[in-house]
Amino acid sequence: MGDLPGDIQRILITPEEIEKRVKELADQISNDYRGKRLYMVGILKGAFIFMADLTRALSIPHVVDFMALSSYGKTTQSGAVRILMDLREPIENQHVLIVEDIVDTGHTLAYLQQVLKGRSPASLRTCALVRKTRARADVTLDYLGFEIPDVWVVGYGLDFADRFRTLSYVAELKPEAYASSQK
Ligand code: 5GP
Repeated sequence: MGDLPGDIQRILITPEEIEKRVKELADQISNDYRGKRLYMVGILKGAFIFMADLTRALSIPHVVDFMALSSYGKTTQSGAVRILMDLREPIENQHVLIVEDIVDTGHTLAYLQQVLKGRSPASLRTCALVRKTRARADVTLDYLGFEIPDVWVVGYGLDFADRFRTLSYVAELKPEAYASSQK
């Protein structure tokens, strides 16, 4: 893959591994929801590339919608989350699948599950491309691409200060690049 960008430590998941796994997840989801119409909820900004590939590999009827969320104080463990952009339609009686890029602590997904459950969907499941090992044990995922170590990752939709989103792989950011931004 040639020289890596300066702030990239190492590649964790290659484009080929991503492509294979996304196809497997799409097949599994298509089987599980056979005969139903799926309401896919992508979480912006990070899930937009995963969402685009996943939905195009589905073989069942589905609609796509998006939400944007923001955590209060990334460095705190408060878990307080704010909705920046909400869904376009009510999801009552819909089969909803949340599509997240990454589950780190799991606070964001836990909040989202609670909010969407309150809107009375017919069913509510969760899908994430990657999950860090430190994630809360009580936040369950129905579909997971990959387990990753507790490092800052970028690429395939994931950013660092809005950089690296369009890398075709998922990579670990150099700890010093991340640390210098936290000062
Ligand atoms: P949580 O800790 O609530 O599971 O994750 C909060 C949010 O932090 C994620 O949705 C994601 O936007 C961001 N995040 C956490 N870890 C990483 C990471 O390693 N890389 C990137 N790009 N974003 C992350």
